[in-house]
Amino acid sequence: MQVVQTIPALRAALAQARAAGRTIGFVPTMGCLHAGHLALLTRARQEATFNVVSIFVNPTQFGPNEDFSRYPRTFEADRTACESAGADLIFAPTPADFYPQGAATWVDVEGLSTGLCGEFRPGHFRGVATVVAMLFNAVQADVAVFGQKDLQQLAVIRRMVRDLHFPVRIIAHETIRESNGVAMSSRNRYLAAEDLQRATAIPAALAEARRLVAAGETEAARIRDAALACLTKEPALRPQYVAVVDQETMAPVTQVTPGRCALAIACHLGNTRLIDNTVL
Ligand code: AMP
Repeated sequence: MQVVQTIPALRAALAQARAAGRTIGFVPTMGCLHAGHLALLTRARQEATFNVVSIFVNPTQFGPNEDFSRYPRTFEADRTACESAGADLIFAPTPADFYPQGAATWVDVEGLSTGLCGEFRPGHFRGVATVVAMLFNAVQADVAVFGQKDLQQLAVIRRMVRDLHFPVRIIAHETIRESNGVAMSSRNRYLAAEDLQRATAIPAALAEARRLVAAGETEAARIRDAALACLTKEPALRPQYVAVVDQETMAPVTQVTPGRCALAIACHLGNTRLIDNTVL
């Protein structure tokens, strides 16, 4: 497995792989890798024969009062995990290497980026879309794998790829969970064991919404209220939003079309912001 920091080194390694007839798979991450990230890599390896993991804590997707500086950085453990999981290359640029000095170009996926997380993290999806566009241009992968855990991000990336004709196939991977049902996240590191237990109210709320839909409920407001009631049983959780949305447009719906809609949740637990969702 190779580790490269700069675009010229990345391009040289990829040119060699392509010349050897290999197809390129790509998993963009911010590092602090867990089994969710590694599942994306395993999926990429089913699709492509040379697989790249990027590790880059992207400054432009963090707001001024967010956790950019304290975001966990665990490069040595990430390198070992990538190697064991069969990655061929880690691309780990520094912000100064990756963003050209005076960079002034942004990718803004309008509409999709403004609700849900976009409402509470202004500029977040602009930072995400821009860095993913830069990474796509750098790696020129045949296929890229993203987690459904970041549902709105997935929708934003799919739309960007469609609108800007990026020649990459996007694959969504289901959310990998801790044994107690909480979605794995690099930010779970911020949580004490008792908080991780408190966070189980989130998957419980998602399960309740799925139960209602399976029982024939289609009224989004009732599904949302039932999920919110589940969440608020845990007083330590402070919900930011609970929304029933169309998975493609992220627009709120009033009626659930099974398979097309999702329930999305964001809440705070102490200083940690957690998100999760389920397809309904
Ligand atoms: P991050 O490092 O948090 O930016 O995430 C990098 C990629 O991993 C994104 O496509 C995420 O959606 C995905 N991911 C994060 N957590 C999980 C999880 N628990 N299960 C599956 N994919 C995940």
